[in-house]
Amino acid sequence: MQADLLIHADWVIPVESPGYLENHSIAIEDGRISAIAPRAEAQSQIDGRETVTLTGHALIPGLINAHTHSPMSLFRGLADDMPLMSWLNDHIWPAEARWVHEEFVADGSRLAIAEMIRGGTTCFNDMYFFPDITGRVAAQAGMRALVGLILIDFPSAWADDADGYFDRAITVHDQFRNDPLVRTAFAPHAPYSVSDTALRRVAVLANELELPIHMHVHETAAEVRGSLEQHGLRPIERLRRLDLINPSLLAVHMTQLQADEIELFANSGAQVVHCPESNLKLASGYCPVGQLTTTGVNVALGTDGAASNNDLDILGEMRSAALQAKGVDADACALPADQALKMASLNGARALGIDRDTGSLQVGKSADIVALDLSQPETQPVFNPVSQIVYAAGREQVRHVWINGRQVLKDRALTTIDLGETLRRASTWRERIEGKSI
Ligand SMILES: [Zn+2]
Repeated sequence: MQADLLIHADWVIPVESPGYLENHSIAIEDGRISAIAPRAEAQSQIDGRETVTLTGHALIPGLINAHTHSPMSLFRGLADDMPLMSWLNDHIWPAEARWVHEEFVADGSRLAIAEMIRGGTTCFNDMYFFPDITGRVAAQAGMRALVGLILIDFPSAWADDADGYFDRAITVHDQFRNDPLVRTAFAPHAPYSVSDTALRRVAVLANELELPIHMHVHETAAEVRGSLEQHGLRPIERLRRLDLINPSLLAVHMTQLQADEIELFANSGAQVVHCPESNLKLASGYCPVGQLTTTGVNVALGTDGAASNNDLDILGEMRSAALQAKGVDADACALPADQALKMASLNGARALGIDRDTGSLQVGKSADIVALDLSQPETQPVFNPVSQIVYAAGREQVRHVWINGRQVLKDRALTTIDLGETLRRASTWRERIEGKSI
């Protein structure tokens, strides 16, 4: 049997079931995983046109960041240490009104994608203005993405009113209809920022076009109080009446949940995206991951934007999720390492509706693969590679990354992004935003 690439590694962590394989190899042909076998067997039976031997490395599925706002990387550190609504109203929304246009979105998306690839992320689910630009930058970088068709009840540089947002959404959806890496999802910002009329339209269109619906839901207690005052309903009940609680929904944050709401999600098959570090930083509350997973809800993992985290580090987010779950549940067995890694890979792919293609290391799936160097002092000795990756490894140990079989990180160097130019542009944006130049 022939293969374009044969990778030998000390550990392969497929994620489909807990645990790992020792001294195994992965063969890649036409961008897909064509074999996973013990090294000796692979060496005798597979003729790789290229062979890589990664001693001391573990291979894991490419990580999936199931919620971010990639262009906001240019607002990293702009406004910290304040609650969500003053952060949004007094800082982020005014800065966006002033700065967000095509060039900002292109430069911010590229910076975010560079950071994500260097951290082992191979797919991200984005929500922002100008999703066509983010999609184009992702495609150029060889990065897998779902770009959100943003909807919000106020005018922006992207659209003036609800009709404008929907028109642009359909145009962007058509643009990426046949793209091998970039797909679209509806992205109504949040229950408090999108009207019933627009949400009804989303429910119908998402069903027709078979698109996911990506939305912030129950992020804070204030959101729930506001909804009770305005609509006489908690946001989830309002969404249920609008026919939005179904498997297409990716509800992000979910920090304020009652038992009946957890039950509703379990019964409807709706998805949850957990963003522990953003919730901690904005003091939004805790998503009850333990209860959600026990009742059978699929929970994926996201970083949120770099303005509220402040990094796009899914390795770190796995660790935060695992530690927070133990603290919140007062149970050291809550969210074990295998489950944290699954949240960051296969569960993310399921939530995004792309698990047939990615999310685990399985023959037939796309070769979205990350090689982590565990031979460094920070992760020695290796009793269990999954434990080392979740509880000890840092992004600097991500050494190689392949997406769809294409190597986008080689020995820590990006192969599809000009890092020097990306950094120069980030620095120029800081000067502009600080008013030092225009
Ligand atoms: Zn968000």
